[in-house]
Amino acid sequence: MKQKIKELFSQKFGTKGVMYASAGRINLIGEHTDYNGGFVFPGAIDKYIAAMINVNGTDKVRAYSVDLDAYTEFGLNEADAPKEQWARYIFGVCRETIKRGFTVKGFDTVFAGNVPLGAGLSSSAALESCFAFALNDLFNDNKIEKFELALIGQSTEHNYCGVNCGIMDQFASVFGKKNCLMRLDCRSLEHEYFPFEAQGYKLVLVDSKVKHELVDSPYNKRRQSCERVAAKLGMETLRDADMAMLDAIKAEISEEDYMRARFVIGEKQRVLDVCDALQKGDFETVGARMYATHEGLSKDYEVSCVELDFLNDVARECGVTGSRIMGGGFGGCTINLVKDELYDNFIATAKVKFNEKYGHEPAIYPVVISDGAHKCME
Ligand code: ADP
Ligand code: MG
Repeated sequence: MKQKIKELFSQKFGTKGVMYASAGRINLIGEHTDYNGGFVFPGAIDKYIAAMINVNGTDKVRAYSVDLDAYTEFGLNEADAPKEQWARYIFGVCRETIKRGFTVKGFDTVFAGNVPLGAGLSSSAALESCFAFALNDLFNDNKIEKFELALIGQSTEHNYCGVNCGIMDQFASVFGKKNCLMRLDCRSLEHEYFPFEAQGYKLVLVDSKVKHELVDSPYNKRRQSCERVAAKLGMETLRDADMAMLDAIKAEISEEDYMRARFVIGEKQRVLDVCDALQKGDFETVGARMYATHEGLSKDYEVSCVELDFLNDVARECGVTGSRIMGGGFGGCTINLVKDELYDNFIATAKVKFNEKYGHEPAIYPVVISDGAHKCME
């Protein structure tokens, strides 16, 4: 891919530039915890966006997307926003960098990626982080703090792409480190690296390729349940709640709110358990917590769907160590921790059984925990 980018860059612009890359991400555990002041546990993966960039001495950006075979040009002022969605990610990163008082000048770029689009691996964060990192290196002597680079990506989504996302995806893409997962505290925004050297295991995503559109904005309803319970407990978020506190107010809240809060409180503890287990190399406990998360998302939080529950059952039947829905729910992928010797059978079985039941094969994405945003050496 990098070779192709290099060749196309030279064809289109007659020169060469500097190559940067940033990654998509997985989240091993910690779902629906961000807006509850809890923890998430992401890592960057070996699927990434790479961009060759060269300063062009003008006040314009000239950009070519290899994967979409699309070219566009835009200026750096607010009024110059391009129409193409893919270019708005780059424009947004430029604008958000400028808005923070940093420098951006015109450049030429050719970029490509292999993060599957819209599959829940955050190709958009990879794209933003790649350019945020590059603009910091090319124009700002790397003065911009890494966390600020993540915020530049997040603001790009909010202000230029109409996606009201949290910080996890951009955080993971910027901070990702080979063989490490990162526990991000969504309240303090502090993070800690944990080794993820899963020798003898593979991580694989199984993408159901279904997306259930729901009418009654289920995310907001979940959020409101959590907020109601937190308020009842006299807390800002459920971060400081435990099961004893929840049980003490059980009679005063609805059954539904109780179930939602039970999931969130359990999930906070599961992330901490997984971190402990990883430090001991105890992958059985990691896997058990992943299944428990799936169960909670399905039964208590009610954000699963038949297809994802089916994939979870298949994983269990195939002896997969851990399996759960990854992402907000109602479709998308499961993330699976599988012993090497069981991998081939699991993948083959999941494909056949899912196809028999739902009429199409799931997509399979094996992933390795890798570095996040970086400059590529020649
Ligand atoms: P995801 O869950 O993968 O982040 P999004 O819908 O948030 O899905 O972002 C996908 C968008 O990001 C695409 O529609 C496109 O505009 C942009 N994008 C991602 N990867 C690429 C790529 N390789 N080439 C061009 N644009 C890309
Ligand atoms: Mg995205």
